[in-house]
Amino acid sequence: MIKHIIFDVDKTIYPDSCGFGDEMDRRISEYAANYINTSLVEADELRKISVKNYGTTLRWLQMEHGLTDTDHYLDFVHPKDVENYLPNRKEVHEVFHGINIPMSILSNGPIENVNRILGFYDISTLFNPIIDIRMNNLKGKPYIEVYEKIVKEINLPISEILFVDDVEDYLIPFHDMGGHVLLVNEKSKPTKMGFDQIRNIIELQDYIQNI
Ligand SMILES: [Mg+2]
Repeated sequence: MIKHIIFDVDKTIYPDSCGFGDEMDRRISEYAANYINTSLVEADELRKISVKNYGTTLRWLQMEHGLTDTDHYLDFVHPKDVENYLPNRKEVHEVFHGINIPMSILSNGPIENVNRILGFYDISTLFNPIIDIRMNNLKGKPYIEVYEKIVKEINLPISEILFVDDVEDYLIPFHDMGGHVLLVNEKSKPTKMGFDQIRNIIELQDYIQNI
């Protein structure tokens, strides 16, 4: 029985195809290229390899390249004009308002970005707690302590919690700890683990009714 649902934000609440995530990825690569003084193509390659070791590009730049002005990074990489990207305003609003299970947010982005996206869909008040990357000391998913912290705050057995994210590698630790997981996989990319999946968050209500 699911008594609580934790949601990622980026590319989970809105679809990957809307371009917001692509713009964020482009900005992350641009930031990394400037920061380590290399080409955009090279930076893109390097960060894809490094994310496997560090979980996030931010963590990689901190640990290997001495990045300290993390607020500057977080501000640079997140587009502010969310209304130019995010689709399905009414549908997403209705889906979340139709869920009568307590919900929370676990994002690897900063609270400013979380607030802009939840604000756009007018769903901010539905989530408690809302945990961003700073609240995890800039060490986000997939570090185990991130999941332990939110489960402790929710104060339910992990076996009663569902975690929804678009990154399979971020679901694996939660699954291994005994939680339920759901992958948002818009393009039906091949997966390693065969977790339950939906293509778009709009399908969530049907999924919940069937579990
Ligand atoms: Mg995501």
